[in-house]
Amino acid sequence: MTDDPYAKLKEDQGYGICPVHGYGWRPGRNMANAPEGLHCPWDGSMHPDEFMAYLEKPGTWLTPTDKNYKVYISVVSDEPETMRHITSMTRRPDEGRPDSQYNREWLTWEEAVERHPEMREEYEEHLSHVASLAPSHPWHTDTHWIQVCPRGEERESKFYFEHLTEEQKRRFIDLLNEGKLNLREPGFFYRRPFFIAAPKVAE
Ligand SMILES: [Zn+2]
Repeated sequence: MTDDPYAKLKEDQGYGICPVHGYGWRPGRNMANAPEGLHCPWDGSMHPDEFMAYLEKPGTWLTPTDKNYKVYISVVSDEPETMRHITSMTRRPDEGRPDSQYNREWLTWEEAVERHPEMREEYEEHLSHVASLAPSHPWHTDTHWIQVCPRGEERESKFYFEHLTEEQKRRFIDLLNEGKLNLREPGFFYRRPFFIAAPKVAE
């Protein structure tokens, strides 16, 4: 027995241990509409090998942030039609009436899973979340009404640069210098990743 509350997260689940934070890489989605993959339980970062592989695929975009250690990554999914839940209600909405603002139907979680079996995993996560909140937040246990929409082609996750190996940092810089990285607004790293030196300025 151990008293360490994080002991479970430190276990290797067969995917290795994050060398930076000492937690076992976890499979799953982690962010609401992220691609399935491995992530670090410490900060939710995508696994560096998956990050680097996505950089080489068409349709991948990076969104710079104001932090020198973080970037968002958007990737293309081959299952755009699978569903996810986008909002939920603790009280029963007007039966059979779509939400007037979004024109979407309200479903119970049970109905949603029946129509869209791929939502089962998300439903089970919801149930365990609710179980962890009760009884201090009893109203959460009534959150059964949801709206769903297709996940769409684009999935977004986040990456923390400290997970890159030295070799991966060099590869990232090469891709950047070769203009092979698609960067969203403003189109360049307004805050340079910490491992990239300032450009040389002509004197
Ligand atoms: Zn980590």
